[in-house]
Amino acid sequence: MIKLLPYKAVQCPFCGRKQVTQAVKRFSCRLCGKSTSFRHKGKWNVKLKDFSSEKQAREYCQIWSGEELIEGGFSSAKEL
Ligand SMILES: [Zn+2]
Repeated sequence: MIKLLPYKAVQCPFCGRKQVTQAVKRFSCRLCGKSTSFRHKGKWNVKLKDFSSEKQAREYCQIWSGEELIEGGFSSAKEL
């Protein structure tokens, strides 16, 4: 049994949006409404990072979302 800290920054595997949740085993996406368990058959089902404070989790979530936008910009630049 893996014990996680109370606040998690998670990426929804269905819509790809990042959000902060306090869920323990599974979470419901606030954006697409689908729910998924964190782990499935001993493997991580979602991208997740856990934190002891909500503030840290939210900050990480913002940076995480921002990085993906930057990465997307770089990869499209390379294609040109
Ligand atoms: Zn979603």
